[in-house]
Amino acid sequence: MSTTLPAPDAAPTAASPAAPDPAAGALGDADAHPRRYVIRTLGCQMNVHDSERMAGLLDGMGMVPAHQGTVGSDVVAEAKHADVVVINTCAVRENAATRLYGNLGRLAALKRERPGLQIAVGGCMAQQDRDRIVEKAPWVDVVFGTHNIDALPVLLERARHNEEAQVEIHESLQVFPSTLPTRRESVYAGWVSISVGCNNTCTFCIVPHLRGKERDRRPGDVLAEVRSLVDAGALEVTLLGQNVNSYGVSFGERDAFARLLRACGQVEGLERVRFTSPHPAAFTDDVIAAMAETPNVMPSLHMPLQSGSDRILRAMRRSYRSAKFLGILEKVRAVMPDAAITTDIIVGFPGETEEDFAETLRVVEASRFSAAFTFQYSPRPGTPAADLPDQVPAEVVAERYGRLIALQERISAEENAALIGREIEVLVAEQDGRKDSASGRISGRARDNRLVHMGLGAVPDGAAHLAERPRPGDVVTTRVTASAPHHLIADGAPIRIRRTAAGDAWQRREEGGDSCTPSPGAASTAAPTGPVSLGIPVRRGV
Ligand code: SF4
Repeated sequence: MSTTLPAPDAAPTAASPAAPDPAAGALGDADAHPRRYVIRTLGCQMNVHDSERMAGLLDGMGMVPAHQGTVGSDVVAEAKHADVVVINTCAVRENAATRLYGNLGRLAALKRERPGLQIAVGGCMAQQDRDRIVEKAPWVDVVFGTHNIDALPVLLERARHNEEAQVEIHESLQVFPSTLPTRRESVYAGWVSISVGCNNTCTFCIVPHLRGKERDRRPGDVLAEVRSLVDAGALEVTLLGQNVNSYGVSFGERDAFARLLRACGQVEGLERVRFTSPHPAAFTDDVIAAMAETPNVMPSLHMPLQSGSDRILRAMRRSYRSAKFLGILEKVRAVMPDAAITTDIIVGFPGETEEDFAETLRVVEASRFSAAFTFQYSPRPGTPAADLPDQVPAEVVAERYGRLIALQERISAEENAALIGREIEVLVAEQDGRKDSASGRISGRARDNRLVHMGLGAVPDGAAHLAERPRPGDVVTTRVTASAPHHLIADGAPIRIRRTAAGDAWQRREEGGDSCTPSPGAASTAAPTGPVSLGIPVRRGV
């Protein structure tokens, strides 16, 4: 997951679904259009999934996603089309505060022109900065934290009614986020939270402070959500947790994650299961066996390394060492030889010497990652590492970073080139690949999660049925014809095109006439069209 610091939330099962009462929350007057919203999401997959829940809550208030035309990813441009703007912030990325206040400053002018515009700030920066946000930007209407996403509708209404800013931050989770209504970004693939929070204390990471201790969701609830996604057309789910390998710790089942993977294997119609992120310290053999023996668990693994130096891992308070990390990769590849393994690496952690960095290069060379998310260390306020002596000068960090990138690019290119000629199965995507319209290719993800751009090629004689263009959610079997470090190309005619329930669901959604789905490449925000479902779904009928 994001280097590191993806950000989950925190809390156990519980609480009632907290679906808002549409009548109570309905905004806008009867004669006017329904109120429109945009949600600007920064940060990791956890935030992306939280934004799906915020969108579901706003839908429940009778609002609709704003049409955005071609406004791209600029939040102020997007806000021009909206009555409510929600910024779901990240505290992990560099300069998060500067960027947040910069965006809020630009929204101030818009708010002066249209005082009815409501601005809400949620996510990790909101949890961290709290009252300071309305002190610095008094035109903000609502500040809510990572533990009370469910309060968004009430806070918006209260701010409107009382004509004053509402700041509500909770120290622990009130409602497990998965019980909230959700507007899914995709109909063919979905996120499913299995836990929120983290019990680790990595010294560079603010997540445990902002998201709390790990709380696991019961397996029955997780599986019910997985089944409901599949019933709605999804072929793929990604199980989300800050540290998926420790899943079960809060209800006392040590092998719970391996069992959950195997149980996903029993869900009829579910073709692809992924998870993020595992922690190397807690990665056990039963999980490797479950990955290998469950056919719908995909041959891909994202496992953060962070550093190859044992001394630096100790300073980061990450309790595995490089030998253990490499040992896990060896075991995974022994049973899943085609697994594509990706990672996160931080360069220039305080005290990192040239020898430490050489260790990182050694481990990267040995690991043969298909890709790495690499980060130059910079101190995050509130983390223990920010106060460590021996911060590495920026120019040294940048120079090492360049060497790491060069090494990983070479390895990625070699690993991808080795696949030329190989038959692969691609799940067609909606948003991958920004050059698609120019090149005429369509894009998707292979089983190992590699990005693939496919030209549909000439249709061979007798294969007219292949001429029909695959839809997002359909599955194409094709052959790799070329490669680059970050993607594969498959420019021949498809070997097979399989029209799927996911493709049907995508088509139904398109034919529903709603055109809010962001165009490929738009880094948007307003939740696209998609079914709104409660995270705790109804059981399937018999
Ligand atoms: S404390 Fe460590 S394991 Fe937990 S979220 Fe942060 S980086 Fe991941």
